[in-house]
Amino acid sequence: MSLSLLTSARLLTRAGPVTDAWLRIEDGRIADFDSGPPPTTEGEVLDVAGATVTPGLIDVHVHGGDGNETMGGGPEGLTAMARFHARHGVTSLLPSTWTAPHAEVLTALRDVAEVTGPVDGGATILGAHVEGPYINVARKGAHRQELIRPAERAEAGELLDTDVVRLLALAPEIDANHWLLDACVERGVTVAAGHTDATYAQLATAAERGVRQATHVFNGMRGLHHREPGAAGGALTLDTVRCELIADGVHVAPPVMDLVWRAKGPDGTLLITDAGKGAGLPDGEYERAGRTITVAGGVMRLEDGTITGSTATLEVGLHRFLAATGTTLDEVWQVATLTPARAIGVADRKGSIEVGKDADLAVFDEAGAVTATVVEGRLVHRT
Ligand SMILES: [Zn+2]
Repeated sequence: MSLSLLTSARLLTRAGPVTDAWLRIEDGRIADFDSGPPPTTEGEVLDVAGATVTPGLIDVHVHGGDGNETMGGGPEGLTAMARFHARHGVTSLLPSTWTAPHAEVLTALRDVAEVTGPVDGGATILGAHVEGPYINVARKGAHRQELIRPAERAEAGELLDTDVVRLLALAPEIDANHWLLDACVERGVTVAAGHTDATYAQLATAAERGVRQATHVFNGMRGLHHREPGAAGGALTLDTVRCELIADGVHVAPPVMDLVWRAKGPDGTLLITDAGKGAGLPDGEYERAGRTITVAGGVMRLEDGTITGSTATLEVGLHRFLAATGTTLDEVWQVATLTPARAIGVADRKGSIEVGKDADLAVFDEAGAVTATVVEGRLVHRT
């Protein structure tokens, strides 16, 4: 259903909250908003009864959800993922690949290309995020060691030529990956340092070369030591590097989530789910890329106990982030909206409630639960 007007809203904008507000939508974009009596309209109206409305949530690192994965899920799996995450306030996402044989990654990117854009009843797919195989075996996490490799020009070039990649994670301390870093910068693809054993000095050099983001900070990287700050120390202190944070409270302990927030602030912290197919599924054993995974208590692990992505939604992540940092949605809404939009270069049309931007909105009740999601003016979820 396409909406024309939202009423009785408390809008979180860059200028601060606007209470007792209305917001008018035209052609899927925000036409205007203000507090006070709403304008009249012939179109559909959503009265949110005083609820808080943020820009729609944006997840730039998400492998799956509700039994589906980017890898091997095909266009149907991708659109199912987009619908699942929209039920949790997400209005845009970058389906993420993982380390796999070239043909499988290429197929996944072609699948993403096929469904890039609005998804009926779901979040908009903005492109893809490539995570692996150009990472470091020393920090492989759940990525398959035997498939991790340096970036070879013909192969990685073919991935970029799908024109669907918006974010790519690589290990920048590996010299053979430097040409790919440069090629991404040239094409406007955001480069993240991920699954990296870079020292602080190596990360600083990589940032000068164009790395602008750290993949799930603290996870899959050289940690923070007081005499060798590592990739984590670099990510926390280099102003040009934004930090992805898996905010499920499992991947990074809450006090360290707080540390990331204190170091990076609203412009440098972006919440991600890193969710896999187990997000939205009950506890149990599942098959993932030929391996058995177990979901127990909201944690998804390989048989050897390695954590393999999260089962959290961005809605849950936001809750846990607020709890860990002692902040409110009013103060930190940017970390799941405007900051990820900036990180992947779409802030001209997404990420904040501003006239002319896409009408992407998430509605939160007093307990912080998502009760409605609006994607480009379409009501795609309502509890
Ligand atoms: Zn990862």
